Amino acid sequence: MENRKRKRSRHTLLWIIFIEILLVLAGLAIVIFVLDDGVETPVDQLINETMKIDYLEETEKTGETEEEFYVPRPFIDEQLLTVNPYSRPGEKIKSLDYIVIHYLGNPKTTAQENHDYFESLKDLKNVSMSANYVIGIEGEIIHCVPDDEVAYASNSANSYSISIENCHKDESGRLTDKTYTALVDLTAYLSERYGLERDQIIRHYDVTGKECPKYYVDHPDKWEAFLDDVMLIRNYWKEEAEKEKRAKEEEEARRRHEEETGIDELTAFLESNAPASEE
Ligand SMILES: [Zn+2]
Repeated sequence: MENRKRKRSRHTLLWIIFIEILLVLAGLAIVIFVLDDGVETPVDQLINETMKIDYLEETEKTGETEEEFYVPRPFIDEQLLTVNPYSRPGEKIKSLDYIVIHYLGNPKTTAQENHDYFESLKDLKNVSMSANYVIGIEGEIIHCVPDDEVAYASNSANSYSISIENCHKDESGRLTDKTYTALVDLTAYLSERYGLERDQIIRHYDVTGKECPKYYVDHPDKWEAFLDDVMLIRNYWKEEAEKEKRAKEEEEARRRHEEETGIDELTAFLESNAPASEE
């Protein structure tokens, strides 16, 4: 009898502990719920804003919003110059209306040498010169000045254009095949990305009458052929992107159809080929 009573009281004690634990857990749940009830704390807001900004900057930088940009970004060696008054003044351009094509007029120099020369002007202080991009004889592309900043290449057009300098092997200024291909790819990418049309891709010559890029001033037909190639490449990537988009849509439609009907094509095929039942 005594024993049973003790047993019962132990039982009651266990129940009380159990209920207390439950109460504590419920209390915790309520506290967590109240703290996290969807009301944004300043910290939450900051995190959200930062994520938004990061995403936008990333999109700006790479242009990888699939729908908007078709032309892939060629490999670009980012070697932005130090901000200085002689080659990278750090000024924003007023608008982006043109891509201006140049030739260096200094045969056999490499893109790296020209980049380094632009960089050295901050110490030499004897001349102002640069370009947003330099393309080398092997087709390497060096980014010297950000697209939205003034570079010293195209005289009066500096404040509303992007400049591309090209290396060449001899005095004729004719580009190697690799330089040419890189120039077409880069111009296609930039012109598509910034919404520039064929007539917004110009020669330095068209700004000042200077014999630059010499080969394309001497051979206007080759210049037209270059512009044709740029538009051709742009069109090619646009069609590829549209093909890919159509394929995705078809795949999505097929998947939805499968979900709705609950059978996939394999099952349907097996069923249609199954031997007739005995019934
Ligand atoms: Zn030029």
